[in-house]
Amino acid sequence: MSTQRRQFASDNYAGCTPEAWAAMDEARHGHAPGYGDDEWTARAADMVRELFETDCSVFFVFNGTAANSLALASCCQSYHSILCHELAHVETDECGAPEFFSNGTKVLLLPGENGKIDPAGIERTVKKRTDLHFPKPRAVSLTQSTEVGTAYTPDEIKAIWAKTKSLGLKLHMDGARFANAVASLGCSPKSITWQAGVDVLCFGGTKQGMAAGEAVVFFNRELAHEFEWRCKQAGQLASKMRFLSAPWVGMLKDGAWLRHAAHANAMAARLEAALAGLPGAKLLFPRQANGVFVELPLPAIEKLRARGWKFYTFIGAGGCRFMCSWDTQPEDVDVLAADVRSALAVN
Ligand SMILES: *Cc1c(COP(=O)(O)O)cnc(C)c1O
Repeated sequence: MSTQRRQFASDNYAGCTPEAWAAMDEARHGHAPGYGDDEWTARAADMVRELFETDCSVFFVFNGTAANSLALASCCQSYHSILCHELAHVETDECGAPEFFSNGTKVLLLPGENGKIDPAGIERTVKKRTDLHFPKPRAVSLTQSTEVGTAYTPDEIKAIWAKTKSLGLKLHMDGARFANAVASLGCSPKSITWQAGVDVLCFGGTKQGMAAGEAVVFFNRELAHEFEWRCKQAGQLASKMRFLSAPWVGMLKDGAWLRHAAHANAMAARLEAALAGLPGAKLLFPRQANGVFVELPLPAIEKLRARGWKFYTFIGAGGCRFMCSWDTQPEDVDVLAADVRSALAVN
């Protein structure tokens, strides 16, 4: 089987980390009860609780769309609404799944600088209509790190919490790249979740380097009521659950999750430094995680594509998005940066 060169299109182009794979390999042997009644799942959930230093309810599902949709559905009734940034994955990249799995809860969009929403925007949207004819706001969804490669600070999340608390809203966090945010902020996982009012976190495993899987972490344990039934109905209850939970044991043991995320962030920092100041290249957002967004002239984009580079130009706010992953090497970054430089050179 031929393998492709390492690309920057998405962190899901990368394969599986040695730590996650070793745990899968260990879990491969012998028999274990199905549907989550196994020792791997118990251990992985315990390790998540240790990581967050609190007694949360933990579930493992196959992907992020389901994690977000089912977590949000457990916050809302069908006549409620969910507030999120206009670039949020739950709005732009989940094909209406949050509405579908909540039986019609409406997603309301907020603008905001650098992919972030703020307390004033939340209040404006909630207070705009309070009558019976408008879907009642019930939850706020934040993405950490954001779709444009920035990260909310603990204080920013706490300020949003103060607002959601006063307005009676639940707080959901789409943490598909939560690991990159923690690595970037250098904070404890608890300081940007339950200590800042997050009720439920979708903790991404796939993009941090597992083959598949996300953890849904309920800090507000009441919201987890009958969550296993939601998962089952949605086709998200894994029969051989140990293969969704074992990689978490591998990644959380000895801090592999954070090491890999810090590496991906460092590779993005290297790329950002190489592109900064290049005539014709305009960096679009402060880089605070593992993605670099840059505006390039169309001919340069075409030249890069002709050289075999794969990248998206429609994700987030437009521009070219270059994502680094756990296995991105400094040489990969340097080759890409050299190609961008030569694509921009006037000839
Ligand atoms: C990748 C991603 C997800 C999860 O997507 P799936 O393809 O459903 O696993 C969720 N949120 C964000 C911000 C993402 O980038």
